[in-house]
Amino acid sequence: MRKRETTSDVFLIGAGIMSATLGTLLKELVPEWKITVFEKLSKTGEESSNEWNNAGTGHAALCELNYTVEKPDGSVDISKAIKINEQFQISMQFWSYLVKNRLIHNPQDFIMPLPHMSLVQGEQNIEFLKKRFEALTNNPLFQGMEFSEDPKKLMEWIPLIMQDRSTDEPIAATKIDSGTDVNFGALTRMLFAHLESKDVQLNHNHSVLDIKRTNDGLWKLKVRNLESGMVEHHTAKFVFIGGGGGSLHLLQKSGIPEGKHIGGFPVSGIFMVCNNPAVVEQHHAKVYGKAKVGAPPMSVPHLDTRFIDNKKSLLFGPFAGFSPKFLKTGSVFDLVTSVKPYNLLTMLAAGAKEMSLTKYLIQQVMLSKEQRMEELREFIPNAKSEDWDLVVAGQRVQVIKDTEVGGKGTLQFGTEVITAEDGSIAALLGASPGASTAVHVMLEIMKKCFPQHINEWEPKIKEMIPSYGLSLMENPDLLRRIHHSTAETLGLTEKEPVFS
Ligand SMILES: Cc1cc2nc3c(=O)[nH]c(=O)nc-3n(C[C@H](O)[C@H](O)[C@H](O)COP(=O)(O)OP(=O)(O)OC[C@H]3O[C@@H](n4cnc5c(N)ncnc54)[C@H](O)[C@@H]3O)c2cc1C
Repeated sequence: MRKRETTSDVFLIGAGIMSATLGTLLKELVPEWKITVFEKLSKTGEESSNEWNNAGTGHAALCELNYTVEKPDGSVDISKAIKINEQFQISMQFWSYLVKNRLIHNPQDFIMPLPHMSLVQGEQNIEFLKKRFEALTNNPLFQGMEFSEDPKKLMEWIPLIMQDRSTDEPIAATKIDSGTDVNFGALTRMLFAHLESKDVQLNHNHSVLDIKRTNDGLWKLKVRNLESGMVEHHTAKFVFIGGGGGSLHLLQKSGIPEGKHIGGFPVSGIFMVCNNPAVVEQHHAKVYGKAKVGAPPMSVPHLDTRFIDNKKSLLFGPFAGFSPKFLKTGSVFDLVTSVKPYNLLTMLAAGAKEMSLTKYLIQQVMLSKEQRMEELREFIPNAKSEDWDLVVAGQRVQVIKDTEVGGKGTLQFGTEVITAEDGSIAALLGASPGASTAVHVMLEIMKKCFPQHINEWEPKIKEMIPSYGLSLMENPDLLRRIHHSTAETLGLTEKEPVFS
């Protein structure tokens, strides 16, 4: 059999939301470029981007309390919330462009309107929530947010949470109706179906084993075809490593100096899913609480209505956990083999610093179902064990790196883009705020990796994303127009959906 060897302009490694987004942007800007995708699984969007592997929150900082921190002087810093909201508006505009231009269809299959709420208990937390509300509510990005500590109002908003609540502890919530539930799995599949219709070659069952630079500055991938068992070699000018948890190993294989001194620490997620339709029907919101003391930001508990396969579901979690795998379908050796001589000190420093996190994760893994139910009962006081099942979600590999502020081996909870100096290869590491900000992150990669084209691409980018290069907060008229048009195109104007 002849060895398969191909050349392309662009390789996308991994068929998750990130590669899907970058591929779609590039196809609109330079349709003549040849793009090839390698995915080791037999289907598209099966790891973190899959609908059951993430929480499906359109992260716009409407309800996530960890994006607004209390400063030592008692005021609330909303700068991170503004940044994330602006980034989500970029995603909304791009998705809206794709629907309007019939490149993808049926937006209700991937995005649904859903109130976003923050819920807290106790005087001190209520004080914080009130201050947060006051800081956000005058900002155009957060208009429409309501605050209440009136049990009658809260009963209207969240009956499932309020009924049978016996404690006298005060409780308060904020609510904003412009939130969303996003099925990132469905969106990933739609984007790849569109890309395949534009001659992008999507190779499933193809695992990238190695990445090496050739003498003429191109990148050569060694790929195993998992169906035939053959090893193939493919060459391209630009490589995007969108391997999710698999990205760190691939970045290390590329040998670029920017990938050194970086490590990864996997945190797994578990949700509880409600199997009783009568309970599911009583809730209609994403309700985010406050993280427990010592818990990492990604394990903030939330009770979420989800829309998956045109069906309403109810999920609670995520409970964090520890597994040495970097992907749900990864290997138990992933963590160990990611430690190299050049990141050993960074990893050791993180190990020493993050003992309390490790202890927290081990405690979380040891929780019995009944202990998890007790945490759920802080949200739904009369939750019954038989109504809830456990589902294992995706793996998040948190980046560990040396920073000026945190010092050696600092654990990062955000997203990190690593690019080679010449822009010929880029990798995406980390997981938060994740899929919601995919369009913003991919535009950043394009700016860094294609500086020679970005000016020429700008008019088309502005056609797709009218707020590109502008702050929506500072342009409230543009924000209003964009809100109106994206809501209309994406079908986000109606209230509760009715499923047949
Ligand atoms: C529990 C949990 C909850 C989350 N909640 C949210 C949320 O509410 N909102 C939000 O916006 N984000 C959320 N996220 C984050 C979001 O899911 C991720 O940021 C996003 O899905 C990452 O997409 P990706 O394309 O980078 O990776 P993935 O979707 O993981 O795709 C990577 C792909 O690369 C493939 N691959 C890996 N290695 C190789 C290789 N060597 N060769 C070929 N293919 C390879 C994998 O098989 C996989 O298909 C959550 C994540 C988790 C785990």
